[in-house]
Amino acid sequence: MMQLSLPDRSPLQPGHAPSGRRPRLLIVDDQPVNIQALHRVFAADCQVLMATDGPRALQLCRDRQPDLVLLDVQMPGMDGHQLCAEMKADPLLRAIAVIFVTSQDHPDEETRALDAGAADFITKPFNPSIVRARVRTQLTLKAQSDLLRELAFIDGLTGVHNRRHFDERFVAEARRAQRTRAPLAIVLADVDHFKRYNDALGHLAGDDCLRRVATALRACLRRPSDLLARYGGEEFVCLLPDTDLAGAIGVAQLMEDTVRAQALPHPGVEGCLTISLGVAAGTQAQGLVEAADRALYLAKAAGRGRVSWVDG
Ligand code: GH3
Ligand code: MG
Ligand code: MG
Repeated sequence: MMQLSLPDRSPLQPGHAPSGRRPRLLIVDDQPVNIQALHRVFAADCQVLMATDGPRALQLCRDRQPDLVLLDVQMPGMDGHQLCAEMKADPLLRAIAVIFVTSQDHPDEETRALDAGAADFITKPFNPSIVRARVRTQLTLKAQSDLLRELAFIDGLTGVHNRRHFDERFVAEARRAQRTRAPLAIVLADVDHFKRYNDALGHLAGDDCLRRVATALRACLRRPSDLLARYGGEEFVCLLPDTDLAGAIGVAQLMEDTVRAQALPHPGVEGCLTISLGVAAGTQAQGLVEAADRALYLAKAAGRGRVSWVDG
C-alpha cells in the first residue's frame, strides 16, 4: 500500500513508483551551482538527472520520463514557463509533475506557475527540509496517479493492456510513423472456435484459456515498444512500431506456433486449441486495423490456425 505521509528524514518514496524503482528527478537550472545545491538534497534517495537549458530538459523528459521536474523559472532561451507549457501540451509528458523553483516570490508569479500546470512552487534560497517535504508529497501523488493510470489501462481478466490503452498508443505511434516514415504493423489474433470451447468446458475454463493465450502471445514480443492488448472478447491486438510486413508476419507466425505448442485440449475440434492471425503493415496508419481485420477474416476462411496478411 502507498503511504500518504512519511517522517521528514525518511527516504523519499522507497519503492513507490509502480515498478518499484527509485523516483527519477530532473533538476533544470541555467546555474550549475543551483543544480548542485538541489542535487545534494536528493542524490541519496533519487535518481537525479540534470539540464541547464529548456530544450535539453525537454529531450531528457522524452528520453527518460522523470517522475518530477524541479524547474527554474528564469533561464535564457526557453524559460521555465515555456518548458512547463510544452510539457503539459504533450500527452506523453503531461503526467510528469513540475515544481517551480524561483527567486521571485511575488504572488502573481506563483499564480502564473500554478496556472501553467505546475504542482507546486518553491522560492530560492530554499530550505532543504521544506524542499524535501514538498518533493515527497508530489512523488507520492505521482506514484498514485501512475498506479491508477496503469490499472485503468490493464485488462482485468488477462493482465495485458486493454483496448483503451491500445487506442491511445495507436494514435501516438501513428503520428510517429508518419513523422519518421518508419512502418507500423498490426497483428490481430482471434481464438478459433472459442464458442465451442466455452460450450464444452464452461465459461470459467474459457477465461482460464484466454489467460494462457495472453501469456503465450506476450512471450512472443521482444521489443519494449511492442504492445499487446486484449482487443475484445477472445481477440488480441499487437502494435509493432518500426516493423515492416515481413517482420510482423514473423511475429504472428511465432504466436501461432507458440499457442499451438501449448497443446491446450479443445473438445470442440479435432486437435488442440489454435488461433488465427491477420497482419497489416505500412507507414500510413489509417485503415491499418481494418486491413488486419480483413487479413484475419482470410485466415479464418482459409481454414483457421494460420497467419494471413494484406499489404496496408
Ligand atoms: P471463430 O473461429 O470463427 O473465431 O469462432 P469463435 O467461436 O471463436 O467466434 P465467435 O465470435 O462466434 O465466439 C466467440 C466466443 O468468445 C463467444 C463468447 O462467449 C466468447 N467470449 C468472449 N469473451 C469471453 C470471455 O471473456 N471469457 C470467455 N470465457 N469467453 C468469452
Ligand atoms: Mg474466435
Ligand atoms: Mg472473435
